[in-house]
Amino acid sequence: MSVIGIDFGNEGCYVAAARSGGIETLANDYSLRATPSVVAFDGKKRIIGVAAKNQQVTNMKNTVGGFKRLLGRKFNDPHVQHELKSIPARVEARNDGSIGFKVNYLQEDQHFSPEQLTAMLFTKLKETSAAAMQTQVNDCVIACPVFFTNAERRALLDAAQIAGLNVLRLMNETTATALAYGFYKNDLFEDKPRNVIFVDFGHSALQVSACVFTKGKLKMLASSWDQIGGRDIDLALAEYFTKEFLERYKINAKTNARANLRLLTEIEKLKKQMSANSTKLPLNIECFLDDVDVSSSMQRSQMEELCAPVLQRVEQTFKKLLAESKLSLDEIHSVEIVGGSTRIPSIKQLIEQVFNKPASTTLNQDEAVSRGAALQCAIMSPAVRVREFGVTDIQNYAVKVLWDGDGSSSNGEVEIFPQFHPSPFSRLVTIARKGPFNASIVYGQQVPYPDQTIGVWKIKDVKPTERGESQDVKLKVRINQNGIVLISSATLVDRKEQEEAAAAGEQAAAAEEKSAGEQAAPNAAESADGQPEAYFENEDDNNTSTASSPGGQGWAQRVKGWFGSGNDKTKKKTTKAIELPMEVATHGFNPADLSNFTQQESKMISNDQKETERIDAKNALEEFVYDMRNKLQGGQLERYVVESERESIVAQLNDLENWLYEEGEDCERETYTNRLTALQKQTDPIKLRAHDYEQCPAGFDELKNSI
Ligand code: ATP
Ligand code: MG
Repeated sequence: MSVIGIDFGNEGCYVAAARSGGIETLANDYSLRATPSVVAFDGKKRIIGVAAKNQQVTNMKNTVGGFKRLLGRKFNDPHVQHELKSIPARVEARNDGSIGFKVNYLQEDQHFSPEQLTAMLFTKLKETSAAAMQTQVNDCVIACPVFFTNAERRALLDAAQIAGLNVLRLMNETTATALAYGFYKNDLFEDKPRNVIFVDFGHSALQVSACVFTKGKLKMLASSWDQIGGRDIDLALAEYFTKEFLERYKINAKTNARANLRLLTEIEKLKKQMSANSTKLPLNIECFLDDVDVSSSMQRSQMEELCAPVLQRVEQTFKKLLAESKLSLDEIHSVEIVGGSTRIPSIKQLIEQVFNKPASTTLNQDEAVSRGAALQCAIMSPAVRVREFGVTDIQNYAVKVLWDGDGSSSNGEVEIFPQFHPSPFSRLVTIARKGPFNASIVYGQQVPYPDQTIGVWKIKDVKPTERGESQDVKLKVRINQNGIVLISSATLVDRKEQEEAAAAGEQAAAAEEKSAGEQAAPNAAESADGQPEAYFENEDDNNTSTASSPGGQGWAQRVKGWFGSGNDKTKKKTTKAIELPMEVATHGFNPADLSNFTQQESKMISNDQKETERIDAKNALEEFVYDMRNKLQGGQLERYVVESERESIVAQLNDLENWLYEEGEDCERETYTNRLTALQKQTDPIKLRAHDYEQCPAGFDELKNSI
C-alpha cells in the first residue's frame, strides 16, 4: 500500500511517496523527477509526460499543455481566451460552452476537456508511482494553487476521480510547502511561535503565504498571489527577440507556431543560464524559419529591464502579503522560497528588499510541494504510520450566504466566513421560514473567476408550525478539507413548548454551549416578535481554532435569550431536528458525465496497455531476428546446427526482417507473438544443444565423433 502527494504544476508535476523510512520523490519512466504536464496523441495511443514534451515540435496539433489553468472554466471566459493565446493546440467551444481540445486520436478527431486531460496526466503519475513503489496507489493528496476557486477545486477533484485516485485532501500549494518545512523542524516550541513566509514562484503563478509554527502545528495566516510566472518572463523576452529577428532577418516568428515554440524553448534555456550568470549569453537557432539561422544575445540586466512590469507585480504581491498578514518585519523569522522562478536573482533581491531578510533555501525548491502533500497524505491515511502534525489552513476568500424571502419573511445575507478564516470549518446559520426556499453561497469579494456564485441550494420540505408560525431552519455551511464551500446539511428545528415549573431543559443548555465563541452578530434582520430572523453559530470541527469574538457577547446573549436557557423560566422546550432534503446546483460534472468520463478513461488506459503490449511484441520479434541471426552467422550457435538448417533459418530471419518493415509494420500483437513462437520452435533445440554442450563438452564431442 502506498500513499502519495502530487504537485500538479502548470509546467511539470512531481510525485512524492510516504514510506515508513520517510518521504521520497519518485522518478518516472525517464528516470526524471519532473513529469511535464503535457499530453499528446498519435494514431494509436496517448503519449504523456516526458515523451509527450519531447515530440511536441513534430506533433504540435495533437500535443496539449497548459490545461491546469483552464480547469472548471468555460470557453468564453476571458481568462481562458487569454490563456489560449499561448497554447498552440486546437481548442473549440463545445455545445455546452465548455472547452474542447481537438486532437486526432485513434484515426479520428476527438475532443477532450481540461479535466479529462488532467485525468490522463494523473493516470500517468499513478502508473509512475505504482512502478516506482511496486504497489498500487491507494490514497493521495493533491496540491492546488491557493487562489483556486470552488469551480477549479471541484474540477480538479473530478479529474482525480476520472483517473481513479482517492483524494484525501486538496491542499493549498503553499500550505503543503509549509508542512514540508515544519514537519522536520525539531526546534519549534509551544511558547515561541515562529512566523515564516513562503514564496512559490512557478511557471504560471506567484503565491506568497504567511504561516505560524508552534511545536507540532502550523497555522496559515494569510496569502496573496498573482497570475504571473516564469512563462510571462519568457513571453517578454520572446517579444524582444521576435522584434529583433523581424528587423535583422525579416522573419516573423509569430507567423509560425513551430518556430515560436522553438524560440520559447531556447529562451527558457537562456533565462535559466542568466540566473547563474550575469555576463552576455548567446541565443542561436539553426534553420529557424525559411532556412535562416538566427543568433542574438542577452544579459541579465537587459532581461530585468524587459521584465520590469512582472517584477513590479511580484513586489506588489510581497507587499500585499506583508500588509495582510499583519506581521511586522521583526516578527518574521525567515522567508523560504520554492518554485523554479525563485531562482531568478532579482526575485531574491525583491524578497530581501520587502521582507528585510535574505531568501532562505531550506527546502528543495522543486520537490517541496509534493513532499508536503505526501506528508499530509501519510498523516491522514491509515496505510502509513507517521507522527501527527496539525495543519490549519485558511479560506482565501470571504464567503457569504444569501437566502430568498418568502411571503412572510424578507431575503437576507450574511458574511459567514471572512477572508483568511481557518479551514476546514463549519458554521450554522439559522433562518426562520414557513416554506421551501433557496440559499446561495457566494464569494464576498472579487475572485479570479467570472462567476461569484459557489452554488444554489434549494431547501425543500419546510412547513409552518401547526399554529402557522415560522420554523427554524439550520443550514450547516462548511469549508471542507479541500477548500470547497458547501451547505452540508439543512435541518428543521421543530420546537415544542410546554408550560412547566421545571427549569429549562437540556436542549437549551446545548444551544447555549454551541453559541459560545460566537462571532460578531451578522446583519440579520429582526422579525416582528423581536426574535432574530437569522443568526449563526460556530461548529468547530477538526480542532480548528475558534476565531475571536469581538462584540460577540451581546449576540450570544440574544441567542441565549431566544432559547430561554435561564433557570427561572417555567417553559420546557423540546426540539427535534429533522433533516431536510436539498437540491443543489454547483460546479463540477454531474454524476452521469463523471461516470461516462471515467469509463472513457478506463478504455483509453486499456487501449494504451494493449498498444504497449503490441509494440513490445513487435520489438521482441525484431530483437529476436537480429540476435538469432548474429548467433547463427559466426556467433555462438553456429556450430550447433547443420548447415542446411542454419541456412533455412537465416533465410527466414531475413524474410522476417523485410516483412517487419513492410506489411508487418502494423499488425496485431498475436501476429508478432505467433511468428516469434514459430521461430523459437526451430531455434530452441539449437539453444538446448548449445546449453548441453556447455554443461558437458567432453560427452558432446564423444557423441559427435561416434555419429
Ligand atoms: P505553477 O506552480 O505555476 O503551476 P510549476 O509548478 O510547473 O507551475 P515550477 O516547476 O515551480 O512551475 O517552475 C517552472 C518555472 O521556473 C518555469 O517557468 C521555468 O522556466 C522556471 N525556472 C526553472 N529554473 C529556473 C532558473 N534556473 N532560472 C529561472 N527560471 C527558472
Ligand atoms: Mg508549482
